[in-house]
Amino acid sequence: MQIFAITAEGVAATTKKTEKVRLVAEYFRSRPVEEAAQAAVFLSGRAFPAWEERTLQVGGALLWRALAEISGKGEIALTAAYRRHGDLGAAARDVLEKTAPAKGALAIAEVAVVFDELARTSVAARKLGLLQDLLCRATAIEAKYIIKIISGDLRIGLRESLVEEAIAKAFDEKPTDIQRANMLLGDIGGTLRLAAGHKLNQAQMRLFHPIGFMLASPVQDAEEALSYFVQAAVEDKYDGIRAQVHVGGKDDPRVRLFSRTLDEISQSFPELPPALRAFPEPVILDGEILAWNVDSAQALPFSELQKRLGRKTVSGEMIRTVPVVYMAFDVLYAGGELLTEKPLHERRKILEHVFAAVPKDGFTAEYSMAVENPQGALVFEPAIGEPAIGSSGTPRVILAPALTANSAENLEEIFTAARERGNEGLMIKDPDSTYTPGRRGKSWLKLKKELATLDVVVTAVEWGHGKRNKVLSDYTFAVREGDQLLNVGKAYSGLTDAEIAEMTEWFLAHTIEDGGFHRTVEPKIVLEVAFNNMMRSSRHESGYALRFPRIVRIRTDKSPEEIDTLDTVREIFSRQSVSRKSG
Ligand code: AMP
Repeated sequence: MQIFAITAEGVAATTKKTEKVRLVAEYFRSRPVEEAAQAAVFLSGRAFPAWEERTLQVGGALLWRALAEISGKGEIALTAAYRRHGDLGAAARDVLEKTAPAKGALAIAEVAVVFDELARTSVAARKLGLLQDLLCRATAIEAKYIIKIISGDLRIGLRESLVEEAIAKAFDEKPTDIQRANMLLGDIGGTLRLAAGHKLNQAQMRLFHPIGFMLASPVQDAEEALSYFVQAAVEDKYDGIRAQVHVGGKDDPRVRLFSRTLDEISQSFPELPPALRAFPEPVILDGEILAWNVDSAQALPFSELQKRLGRKTVSGEMIRTVPVVYMAFDVLYAGGELLTEKPLHERRKILEHVFAAVPKDGFTAEYSMAVENPQGALVFEPAIGEPAIGSSGTPRVILAPALTANSAENLEEIFTAARERGNEGLMIKDPDSTYTPGRRGKSWLKLKKELATLDVVVTAVEWGHGKRNKVLSDYTFAVREGDQLLNVGKAYSGLTDAEIAEMTEWFLAHTIEDGGFHRTVEPKIVLEVAFNNMMRSSRHESGYALRFPRIVRIRTDKSPEEIDTLDTVREIFSRQSVSRKSG
C-alpha cells in the first residue's frame, strides 16, 4: 500500500496528464498483476469494481470517529488538520504522522479484505473496529489514501479514462481495446488482468450489469444538426428517465432496469419488469421511462413521473394514477451479441426484430399478474390461487417511432410535430454511428430549441446602448393575470434596425410616464419572445424571469388581451424545472 500511496502522491503533484499516465503505467508494470489489478480499482476512486453493487457504507462521521480515537489527538487536532486541508484523507496524514509508527508492511490485498468485511457488516460498532484496526496498521500516508478511497474521492486528478490509458501503456495495448473491455466488464481491475495477459478479446458482456450510456450534444437549430451528417435518423426527445433494461429471456425470468448513474431502479417501476419479460430472448435495451396518458397514448410531463420518484414502495394506487411505459429507442445486446459497434441503422433493424418476436399483447400481460398486498403495494407473480387485479390492457413497452430527415425544413416539421405530441424536441442521430458509452459526441444531437415562446406585451422601454443609444431598443414585457399586467422579463435583441426605428417612434408617441432613461408606455405592442429557461425571481412582479429572452417577432396580429397568462408561465416553469432532473 505504501508504493501505491507514493505513486498517488506523484500523480497528484503533476498537472500534466501524460506524466500522470506515465507514473501509473510504470507502477502497474512494476507490481504483480493481482496487486496492480486491485490498485487499478482503487486508483479509479472506487473500493469495488464499478459493476458491483456492494458499497462500504462508511460515512464521514464514522471515519472521523475512527481517526480521532486512534490518533490520540482527539477532536481539536483533527478539526484543525481538516480545516488546513479540507480533505479528511490529508488531515489523517497530518494527525497520524507523529503517532503512527512507519510500518509500511500493509499489502493492498489486506486493504481489500477489510473492505469486503466492511461491506458485509451493517453493525456500526463492528465497522468502527474494522476501520480502526486497518488504520492502525497503516502508515500515515497509507491512511491518507485508504480514507480517500473509502470516501470515494481520491482528488489526485486521475479520471478512470487516464487509468485506462495507463493500462494501455503499461501492457502495450490499444487504448480503444482497453476502453471496450472496461465498458463490457465494468471492472477496471479485470480489464488490467486481461491486458496483462494480452487477452482483451476475452472480455465478455455481463448481462445484468449495466454499461455506460451514450450521451447527446445540444444543437441550436436544424441547420446546425445537419452540418454534422446529411442523412439523419430522428426520434422524439421524450421527457422521462433514461433507463437501460436487461432482460433474461424465456429461460431466465430476471429483468433489471438501470438509471443513467448505473443504479438499479427496477423497484421503482414494479409494473415494467413483468411486461419486459415478454421478450423471448436475452436483450439489453436503451430507452426512456415515461409517465403515460393511456387515452391519448402520449407522454405526460415529467412532473407527473416525478410523483413516483424517491419512494421506497410504490403503491398500487400510484401505479394506477401515474401509469408508466418504457419507450425503447436502441438495442445494445441481442442474439447473444454485443451490438455497440454496429451502426445505428443496423441496431434499429435489430431492435425492430426484437420487438417483432414478442407475442401479441405480450407487453400488456403484466397487469393481470399483479395483486395488491395488505400494504397496498403491488406484488407481481402472485402465488397460485391468489386473485389478480385485472389487466390494464396498456402496452407497457413501446418501440420509439423513428423517421429519417435530410433537410432543415424536414427537421423543423418533425420538431413541431414532436412538440405538439408534448415531447421536448428531437433527438437527431447519425445512422452510421456506433454506440459509444459515456462519451458526448456529435453522433447524437438534441434539439430542444427554446423552452417555449410567450406572447407578451411591452410595458416599459429604455434607450439602447452603444450605437443604439438614440433608439428605444430595450423592452420590458409582461404577461396577464386577470386584468393585471405582470412583468416577466426584458429583451433587447431580435428586431431589425428598421423595426426598432418604427417602434421608437411609436413608443415616443405613446409614453405614459417619461422617466428620462426609462419610459412607461401604453401596453399595446405584443411581442413573441423566446427564451432558454425561466427562473423564479423577485425582480419582476410575476415572480419569474426569463433567461436569454429574444424577440421572435412583433405580433401585430394579436391584441394585448390575447397575450399569455401567468398560469402559462407557471406551467412552463414546472415543465422545465423537472426536465432538468435527468440531466
Ligand atoms: P438531456 O437530458 O437534455 O441531456 O438530453 C439527453 C437525454 O434525452 C437522454 O439521456 C435521454 O434520457 C433523453 N432522451 C429522450 N428521448 C431520447 C431518444 N429518442 N434518444 C436518446 N435519448 C433520449
